[in-house]
Amino acid sequence: MKFDIITIFPNIFSGFLSESLLAKAIKRKIITVKTHYLRDWTEDRHQTVDGKPYGGGPGLVFKIEPIYKAVLSIKGKVLRQNKKVKSKVILFSPRGKKFTNELAKKWSKLDQLIFICGRYEGVDERVAEYIADEIISMGDYVLNGGEVAAMAVIEAVSRQLSGFMHDADSATKEDHAQYTKPAEFSIKEYVLRGKEGNKKQKIKILRVPKVLLSGNHAKIEEWRKKNS
Ligand code: SAM
Repeated sequence: MKFDIITIFPNIFSGFLSESLLAKAIKRKIITVKTHYLRDWTEDRHQTVDGKPYGGGPGLVFKIEPIYKAVLSIKGKVLRQNKKVKSKVILFSPRGKKFTNELAKKWSKLDQLIFICGRYEGVDERVAEYIADEIISMGDYVLNGGEVAAMAVIEAVSRQLSGFMHDADSATKEDHAQYTKPAEFSIKEYVLRGKEGNKKQKIKILRVPKVLLSGNHAKIEEWRKKNS
């Protein structure tokens, strides 16, 4: 699976890609991640990627030309290598369709995802209309740029790829409440939610649910289903 990221801040990704599971997946060639500096597709001396919005208004908007050229170049390279490549161009926008784990599963079957990371006041709307296959939002809030969104999608999609996780099926299992040692943990009550300011500093013992210590696998499964 190949991720191509079009951004004006490629350095944001260096730490993210060089740690933990993602770094291992890159090393083991389960995924390839390439950042593309949007300014490389500009023609002018100042490498201008943005302009004032038509009709007025604050801030600057990403121009269509460099984005078009970047996508064309990235798609062209892959197409030359393999005509049957399954690829999608994703534009990040707070006005887009909400990203879900279902989408992550669906996209993990593709060969390539190309991300367009907006900045400033957003991106010329013709990119959404004519260049992007999908417009994706991470939630009802506004980020500074699409880079954090791209990172979230890379992680969620990669987790669906076979060989990415240590435990082969941990990406597919239902999420449920989890505990680890110690089975009993003492805590001063004033630290507990809603107990702030309790001068007596009573001690409370926080216990792991007994069923999880029972060794009864059927009961443990039942408990997990209830707590997922
Ligand atoms: N008013 C602008 C708009 O509606 O697109 C906000 C632009 S925002 C400051 C800059 C860029 O961050 C956007 O173009 C988009 O790429 C990204 N972005 C911001 N919030 C996002 C969100 N919730 N989901 C996905 N991308 C987001």
